[in-house]
Amino acid sequence: MKHPQNRHSALATSEEQEENVILDLDFPFLKFQDILVSTNNFSKTSMIGQGGFGKVYRGTLEGGQEVAIKRLSRDSQQGIEEFRNEVILIAKLQHRNLVRLLGCCVDGDEKLLIYEYLPNRSLDAFISDSTRNATLDWTVRFNIIKGIARGLLYLHRDSRLTIIHRDLKASNVLLDAAMGPKIADFGMARIFGDNQKNANTKRVVGTYGYMAPEYAMEGIFSVKSDVYSFGVLLLEVVSGIKISSVDRIMDHQNLIVYAWNLWKEGKATDLVDRCVVENCLLDEASFCIHVGLLCVQENPDERPLMSSVVFNLENGCTILPMPNHPAYFAPRNNEIEQIGDDIMKSKNAITLTAIEGR
Ligand code: ATP
Repeated sequence: MKHPQNRHSALATSEEQEENVILDLDFPFLKFQDILVSTNNFSKTSMIGQGGFGKVYRGTLEGGQEVAIKRLSRDSQQGIEEFRNEVILIAKLQHRNLVRLLGCCVDGDEKLLIYEYLPNRSLDAFISDSTRNATLDWTVRFNIIKGIARGLLYLHRDSRLTIIHRDLKASNVLLDAAMGPKIADFGMARIFGDNQKNANTKRVVGTYGYMAPEYAMEGIFSVKSDVYSFGVLLLEVVSGIKISSVDRIMDHQNLIVYAWNLWKEGKATDLVDRCVVENCLLDEASFCIHVGLLCVQENPDERPLMSSVVFNLENGCTILPMPNHPAYFAPRNNEIEQIGDDIMKSKNAITLTAIEGR
C-alpha cells in the first residue's frame, strides 16, 4: 500500500515544501490508479455522500478492505490547507472513537483521503430521519454520547498534542457496525502548545448552531468551544431534535433554549425523545441533560473540561453544579437581548453575529 515515490512527488509541489512535517510521517500514500479501480472510476453507484471537501466514495482495496474515499473537489470551499491539516493531524492520532485515516493520494490536481469505512454512516442521518432515529434506543444513545466524550477527551488531553476540533457536529460523527461513534473531519482542527489556553482567529469557520458564542462572535476558540459543541450534540442525541430544527420545540428559539426552559421548570425529562422515553432510565437521561446544559453555558470558564464530562457520564452519581444560562441569543437584527434568567421565547431564528458559516 506504500508508495514512497508518490509521496515525494506530492511534496515537491506548493507550499507543502515549507512544511516538512508531512515528509516525516510514516504514512501510506496510495496510487491514483488503485483508487480508480477501487471506486470503479468514481462511479455514481460508488458515491456515498458529499460534504464541503468534495464527494465521498465507497471502495474496496486490494486485499478486500472496505474504505471511504474523499475526493477534494476543485471548487471545494475547503482546500489544500484543510487537506494537509487532516493528513498531518489525524495520521498521528489513534483512538477507538476517532475515525482512522488509512492513507492519502496526491496525483496532479487530484487529492484524496482514504478512511476506514463506517457502515452506519453519520449520526446526523439518524437524528434527521425519524425512522432511523427510532432505532436508537437509550442504551445506544448513551453509549454514543460517552464515546464522543472519550474521543474528544483524547483530542484535548490524552493524545500527545492538545487538539481543538472546531467543527464537532452530528455529521462529523460516524457510526461503526456496532453503533460505536467515531469523530471525523479534522480539516479545521488546531494544535495548541503545552500552556496555551485559547487562540483567536479572524476566519471564523464552523457550523451554525454548534459554534460557541465567543468563537462565533470574537473568533476565540479553546477546548471550551469544543465542549460547547459537544453539549449541543448531547442535547440532540437525547432529544432526537436537530439544533437547526424548528419542529417539536414549541415556540422556543432553538433546542438549547427549549432544553434550558424545560430544565428551569423542573421538566428536563420532557426533552427525552418520545421513542425512547418508555425504555429509558430517566435519571440517567436527566443527568445527561444536566451535563449538556453545563457544557453550553455562556461563560466558557464555567463549562466543564472533557475530563470531568467523561468522569460524570461514566460515574453518574456525582453531584453536579447548577448550570447557568446558556449563550445570549440575538434576533436577526443583531441586537443582543439580555436574557438573564429567562431566555426570550420568540419565533425569531437565533443568530450569532460575524459567522462565516459553511
Ligand atoms: P461537511 O464537509 O460540511 O462537514 P459532512 O461532514 O457531511 O459535511 P463529509 O465528511 O465529506 O461531509 O461526509 C459526507 C458523507 O459521506 C457523510 O455524511 C457520510 O454519510 C459519508 N462518509 C464520510 N466518511 C465516511 C466513512 N469513513 N465511512 C462511511 N461513510 C462516510
